Amino acid sequence: MRSNPSTKPHWIVSTHYRMRAGFFAYAFLFCGLYLRGIACPAWAWGLLALQFLVYPHLVYWRALVARDSRKAELNNLLWDSAFLGTWCAALGFPLWISFTLFISSAINSVISSGRSGLLSSIATFLAGSAAGLGVFGLRAAHPDPRVDWMCVLGLFGYLTGIGLIAYRRNTTLSSVRMKLKASEQAMSQANEGLQRQLAEIHVLKEQLHDQANRDPLTGLFNRRYLRATLERELARCRRNGTPMTLMMLDIDHFKSINDRYGHVAGDEVLRQMGEVLKNGARQEDIPCRFGGEEFVLLLPDMPMDVAFARAEILRATFAEVSVPSPRGEVRTTVSIGVATFPRNGNTMDELTHSADLALYAAKRHGRNGVRAYRTDFGAMGPT
Ligand code: GH3
Ligand code: MG
Ligand code: MG
Repeated sequence: MRSNPSTKPHWIVSTHYRMRAGFFAYAFLFCGLYLRGIACPAWAWGLLALQFLVYPHLVYWRALVARDSRKAELNNLLWDSAFLGTWCAALGFPLWISFTLFISSAINSVISSGRSGLLSSIATFLAGSAAGLGVFGLRAAHPDPRVDWMCVLGLFGYLTGIGLIAYRRNTTLSSVRMKLKASEQAMSQANEGLQRQLAEIHVLKEQLHDQANRDPLTGLFNRRYLRATLERELARCRRNGTPMTLMMLDIDHFKSINDRYGHVAGDEVLRQMGEVLKNGARQEDIPCRFGGEEFVLLLPDMPMDVAFARAEILRATFAEVSVPSPRGEVRTTVSIGVATFPRNGNTMDELTHSADLALYAAKRHGRNGVRAYRTDFGAMGPT
């Protein structure tokens, strides 16, 4: 019995049932016509009715209740062949009837099981014939052209029916395939769209991240980024035992540039300071706009003497910069304070404070200069 009665029986069960019940009922007619011609006893008629009118429904029921309905139906086909073989031999059917009965079961076995289905069908048909011959002996065939014609018509109808079923299944299959292909295409298009959106989101995220860390006027990193990086770089230098230098830069008399040449020219000077810092920085350096006209250049793994020389180059380079403006050419200078980890400060705040003190020392000494931090700077107040 089927383990799960709600499972639908295999499609060949209902298809074969319709074909078998229809064809067997028709076979009852032409076999009956033949039987009349050879004057058989009443029990032969009873058996004929049982075989061709009752048997198709019994085997259908057997397949319906079987655990594996397809397997049960394949067995039914073999029973068909065996019984039909028995009938052919027992009544001495002529060629047309024998062939019609044989091919009607064999064709279904071939469709369902291929070459092995054909072989099994032939074998069971022959076994059934042998059984019929064994029990009833050899009988002479009784040709009847009416029966022959009925067989021809029956075969025509049966094979056409099979062809129509195959055609319907083929068209259903190809329309399912087309729908599948269309949904595959739609899915791949949706997927491409999704990938594009993901890439756009990724770019936007990068831009947002970059914007959050950069100063829009100069394109340098901002103070927020400097804070996060300075902590990290300090920890790294501490671990590796390497120095790190911080330069604090402040444009001299910047307020008067704004006042004299206007804010637009002032902005351009800030941008030029940004360019000087970018061009003078190594890959690993971190140039930042600290705020207003103040800048910081962080130089990981760089000792004071090397950084001091770099600061001097930056100062001299900026002093050469000239910014055209409607009110004349703008030229200005920068003052720079330099402090080194670990000598001038161990923490971020200590290091920036020391660089700030050095910067104000540079301002006090007439601006346009570079000063390295000295311990006595702390005692002097800013100018
Ligand atoms: P010192 O030489 O002592 O540094 O003098 P200073 O004039 O440069 O310094 P102060 O702090 O007095 O002036 C800084 C000016 O920078 C004041 C402010 O208006 C200007 N400033 C700050 N941010 C910007 C900006 O984004 N654009 C422009 N054009 N000016 C700015
Ligand atoms: Mg300032
Ligand atoms: Mg200034």
